[in-house]
Amino acid sequence: MSTTKGARRPARRRPAGSAPIAPAVREILVALGEDPDREGLAKTPARVEAAYRFLTRGYHQSVAEVVGDAVFDDESHQNMVLVRDIQFYSMCEHHMLPFFGVAHVAYIPKGRIIGLSKLPRIVDVFARRLQVQERLTDQIADAIMDAIAPHGVGVLIEAVHLCMAMRGVEKQNSHTVTSAVRGIFRSDQRTRTEFHRLVQGRSGRSE
Ligand SMILES: [Zn+2]
Repeated sequence: MSTTKGARRPARRRPAGSAPIAPAVREILVALGEDPDREGLAKTPARVEAAYRFLTRGYHQSVAEVVGDAVFDDESHQNMVLVRDIQFYSMCEHHMLPFFGVAHVAYIPKGRIIGLSKLPRIVDVFARRLQVQERLTDQIADAIMDAIAPHGVGVLIEAVHLCMAMRGVEKQNSHTVTSAVRGIFRSDQRTRTEFHRLVQGRSGRSE
């Protein structure tokens, strides 16, 4: 089990956390024309640093770590397992602004199943980094392939990007949809159709 296959980002140049973020935030405030010493902003650099550390903690987590021993042998289950509407929050690497929404994660087991509660945690490992939605989708799919070698995996993500919504690039409620399919989800049209049907069957929403 590893996270390296899906992770196409280059190795970090320095150990994360070795450089403080707060002084840089203070510089941004100055550059914006603000007074970083006024009461309302005095603690802002430290708060932003804490927030960024939290929102990017996925850099310090691995799939192996969050899955732990929650992988079980189970030869009997051969049907699709789907966890849908997994809420996530991430930040786009182009603007460092949030994008968020839901991930739907499905797989067809081949002798091994994974604890259902682990799927949202795998999503978080990759969401809590600077991301682009397409790569996030791929990394989740690859991580599950690596973790339990199933017949296949399907991941579909619907998200709103604040870098688009706040700048008026897109309408308020438009979603960006990405999908990644592996194994039988890629090779077999019926499996893909079942996946999309199950995902779209949720709570009366339509694409
Ligand atoms: Zn962006």
